[in-house]
Amino acid sequence: MRFFLAGSLLLSNVLGTAVPRAEQKVDYTGFKVLRLSLAKASHDIEAQIEKVAAHILNPGKTTLDVVVSPESVDTVKALVPESIIINEDLGVTLAEEGELVSPDFSASAVPSETWFTAYHPYADHLTFLSDLQGGFASQSEIFTAGTSVQGRALTGIHIWGSGGKGSKPAILIHGTVHAREWITTMTAEYFAWQLLTKYASDTTVKSLVDKYDYYIIPAVNPDGFVYSQITDRLWRKNRQTVSSSTCVGRDINRNWPFKWEVTGGASTNPCSETYKGLAAGDAPENKGLVAQVNSLRDGKGIRLYLDIHSYGQYILWPYGYDCSLVVHNSAQLRSIATSAAAAIKAVSGTSYTIGPSCSTLYATTGSSVDYVDSAGNATYSYTWELRDTGDYGFQLPASQIQPTVRETWQGLVSTLTNAG
Ligand SMILES: [Zn+2]
Repeated sequence: MRFFLAGSLLLSNVLGTAVPRAEQKVDYTGFKVLRLSLAKASHDIEAQIEKVAAHILNPGKTTLDVVVSPESVDTVKALVPESIIINEDLGVTLAEEGELVSPDFSASAVPSETWFTAYHPYADHLTFLSDLQGGFASQSEIFTAGTSVQGRALTGIHIWGSGGKGSKPAILIHGTVHAREWITTMTAEYFAWQLLTKYASDTTVKSLVDKYDYYIIPAVNPDGFVYSQITDRLWRKNRQTVSSSTCVGRDINRNWPFKWEVTGGASTNPCSETYKGLAAGDAPENKGLVAQVNSLRDGKGIRLYLDIHSYGQYILWPYGYDCSLVVHNSAQLRSIATSAAAAIKAVSGTSYTIGPSCSTLYATTGSSVDYVDSAGNATYSYTWELRDTGDYGFQLPASQIQPTVRETWQGLVSTLTNAG
């Protein structure tokens, strides 16, 4: 995509002036979000839109939400006659999201629920995890699942109950696969926080913790997450380069080594939001995640995999790579998802759409849910797309963090209860 070639080019295009190579934060003041209907558009229209738009927010759908600079609005509207503006000024929405808040960790106590009232810098997320683990050292430990392109450890927390460490089937939960989906970091952390802090006082939580071993990685794309915090709030991919292009980043959720080679569910263009990489599983993040999935599979097995994304409010299951295939345990997956959606809705009315990934949302190849279902032999494998349906998109205001993590937690409790 033209705006995202490299730091200097990026800014000179967006701002229209030459700037030093040192990366500055992308200013989205005045940028609009357009919702485009591609139902009657030609096949190559998405590639053309990608060249003009600053970001495509939900690549693959027939209804595309795209971020467009004020100067490019008319160009995009000429490409796609059916469009509406769903956000007049992204800069205003970003202000509503709130500043990154760095809490006072000096007491080194178990984090309080206040953590879930603001977004935080990446380094603080690591402190959150270690402080939480430190408070429950006899039933948790910090683990890493490989290393990112830029050398950051993919850091998670392993939680177990009365059976002891590693004695039960695995519940594997990933957040922040896509860098800009900040609500997912908070949600994965809330799950870990609830499982540990409520273990002693809540019999439901105790029974769920005693039944499984939990492996929760709140940010499996740390490089992209940091980049989204410092430079471009709407960054999606990792930060891996290719020699053939000045564009940066592979889509970690199109790089898993299962049906990676199938066409139509990812891009071979390094500038695309859904760039699949040069070879199956060639992103360092995927190598680490694949090794962990395989290790859990070969151990006690994976009972449930949950890949947490935003936005759209969906509960999705395999397959992503083929819309005509029906997964062998489709009926159970649907039944569990139906109950989870009802549990979420019961909290504050948030409605989720459920269904197989490809036919419900869009085709995805090399996706995590397909890999963990098929190669990881997980009993249940889901993608959850959290709030909202586009009003705020990825920039969910800080005031919505607690309502979102609380309702999603009820979805998890329901899922775990029914996955037994
Ligand atoms: Zn995502």
